[in-house]
Amino acid sequence: MPLVLDVFFTVDVEVWCDGWQDIDRKFPDAFRRYIYGPSGEFGLPFQLRVLSDHGLKAVCFVEPLFAARFGIGPLAEIVRLVEEAGHETHLHLHTEWVDEARVALLPRIRGKRQFLHQFDLAEQAQLIAKGAECLQQAGAAKPIAFRAGSFGFNRDTIRALAHNGILVDSSYNGSTFGLSSGVCEGELLDQPKRIDEVLELPMSVFEDGRGLRHVQLTACSWLELEHLLWQGLEFGHRSFVILSHGAELLTPGARAVDPTVVKRFRRLCGFLQRNSGSFRVRGFRNGELPLAPVAPVRRLHSPIWRTALRMAEQGWRRRHAWTR
Ligand SMILES: [Zn+2]
Repeated sequence: MPLVLDVFFTVDVEVWCDGWQDIDRKFPDAFRRYIYGPSGEFGLPFQLRVLSDHGLKAVCFVEPLFAARFGIGPLAEIVRLVEEAGHETHLHLHTEWVDEARVALLPRIRGKRQFLHQFDLAEQAQLIAKGAECLQQAGAAKPIAFRAGSFGFNRDTIRALAHNGILVDSSYNGSTFGLSSGVCEGELLDQPKRIDEVLELPMSVFEDGRGLRHVQLTACSWLELEHLLWQGLEFGHRSFVILSHGAELLTPGARAVDPTVVKRFRRLCGFLQRNSGSFRVRGFRNGELPLAPVAPVRRLHSPIWRTALRMAEQGWRRRHAWTR
């Protein structure tokens, strides 16, 4: 059993305007809710502060293409929040923004394309370059890690990242597009693997008795998270990748706080701090990146009774938080 497991607490930071109509009018309010929270609390700054208070580092995958519509100012505000709190800014791309840019990013493209894998290699390389440039204009260091929006990447994405000198990808999600991405054909990745020059750092996934599920703050119970972390350590996993979002502690649409998830997040941070000898919560800019395990490792799993408890808890959340 390894002595310590590398944990990546990844926060996808993005702003949505609830549809694509009238977005110039809707953007200021959407930005405020998605980044700061509906009442100015429990948004990204809160999440970053709680992590910092526990000595934990977040990897923030920040979506920058919205700046092609609304300017660099709001993006610079996000980058400042992340950097001043001592966390890392890397690149996230939601290609839904491509056709909303004031100056066309890809003149050939008309209409919505939700996934990066719907673009050819040259287009993907251009979009990644543009995203990285926006982040740097907004005050971030050159990003060295990437996650595709909605995990919608493919083999060309790996090549386009290498072309741009971004050598860590965390777009592989075995519970969604992982297997169909053409990355590591016939193999379901749940551990780091070098693909050409790029280190693929897949989402952590687990069997819950009903199928495969990724490890996300809003989508797993506290009992599951704790159990899976210990299991990852016991099974000799080399990385444990947790998904969060800037608005993860809020109800859908970032309209109200979700107290169940806030409590779960605080418990997770306390646990990781208390057990920092076993779990090293880290970024990409310091220290060696995790390697592939030398021998195959067992997949994480959680018993069906724990799944049933989580489903009951999620039902309770929907009734008590989401309806407010
Ligand atoms: Zn996203």
